[in-house]
Amino acid sequence: MEIEKAKWFNNADSPVVLMIDDLANLGADIGRDNKSNICNDWGYWRDLPNSSFAFLQEKLFVKFPKIKTTFFTIIGQPINYLAERRRVRCGPINENDSTINFFRKLHQSPNFEIAYHGLNHGLIRDGKYFNEWRSFNSAFEALGNIAVGQKICQQVFGESLIGGKYPAYASNGYSDESIDKSGFIWWCRHWTYGEFLAKKKDYSVLEMKTFGKNYVVDFPSTVSPHLISLKHIFRRIIERLRSVNLPVIENSLAERSCFSAKRWKFMTDGFFRNQRQQLTRHLEELLRRKEVISIQEHMGAIRADGLRQTPNIIDDMENLQYIFSFLANKNVWNATCSEIANYYLSFNQTEIISADEKGFVIRYAGRIKEPLLTLLVKTDKFIQAISPSGKSYKSIKCPLEDSWGLINIGVENGRYQLKLIN
Ligand SMILES: [Zn+2]
Repeated sequence: MEIEKAKWFNNADSPVVLMIDDLANLGADIGRDNKSNICNDWGYWRDLPNSSFAFLQEKLFVKFPKIKTTFFTIIGQPINYLAERRRVRCGPINENDSTINFFRKLHQSPNFEIAYHGLNHGLIRDGKYFNEWRSFNSAFEALGNIAVGQKICQQVFGESLIGGKYPAYASNGYSDESIDKSGFIWWCRHWTYGEFLAKKKDYSVLEMKTFGKNYVVDFPSTVSPHLISLKHIFRRIIERLRSVNLPVIENSLAERSCFSAKRWKFMTDGFFRNQRQQLTRHLEELLRRKEVISIQEHMGAIRADGLRQTPNIIDDMENLQYIFSFLANKNVWNATCSEIANYYLSFNQTEIISADEKGFVIRYAGRIKEPLLTLLVKTDKFIQAISPSGKSYKSIKCPLEDSWGLINIGVENGRYQLKLIN
């Protein structure tokens, strides 16, 4: 019997994950009224009304319940770089029972997971801000820091986290070694979508790879939902004016100047439509190439320096809804980063040594115990596979139009028996 490995689980064209950076026990109190404001809430207000998480629930997760999200979380006391400008509340994720329960509940939910985004995100040294992995002077120092963070994870989640991201994708010569040696399965090292654009849309930049002696999955970020619109352009102008302390223009510039507003709107609306078309073509190309669709976002709309950051879930919500509507009827696998990385390793580290009518032999050289793998089996019947340790798996789909059935198995070393069910 002919047997092949499927590139992705359930023979999907692409896996899809929403990646949201900087979910943390942190929030700025803009109005100084002790009330949440979604633009400035990075997770401090948990899932309470008017929190950024409640915003996500209402605008996205309720409408698209299949979405899977990986949140990149600052585990310890976040660096308080907003302190000079605003009143900021922040603490580690184990600060109190409510915080612990919020983060634990998220991580244990099948649709979400928490990933490691540093102990503090960074530090101030000699008046200058350094992102966390740029601040270490040896891999040993970085490893010690990760151990402190993982100890908190053990307390909150009952386990260490298996993946994460360099804050601001910033690293130095010691960073990758620290990730490789600390047991992480996957890691986001680069802002690959930015590199992809810089290299004139070279799709090879967006391919999943591994690094280090332990084959850590180098997880790419392949989609940015941030599109430039008239609203964003004016908001940017106003923010820039504010930041250099020029007189603040509170009302939209568009409302003040009829002539230029109409003209601007015409120009930027066309520009926006064009960007949407480009985004659609990009998604279609990722599906055609069977690459990961990893959609990059930020929890908070306000950046460390007080300016608006891109991308962010507030400004990009319409585009996020558009992306997930587009993907709703495509052959995709909604999965967290950990599920995708596990499958990638399973696919790459498993070899089908031989196959006949009665079974097949698998050789697996990975470090994850019994990872999942989808097999394509050339048959017009439903089949059952019995693993070397006696576990039973049945076809999930049979036959496909071209007589390839699908079966999902847990990977073990050795011979699987095959039986026809009908
Ligand atoms: Zn960050």
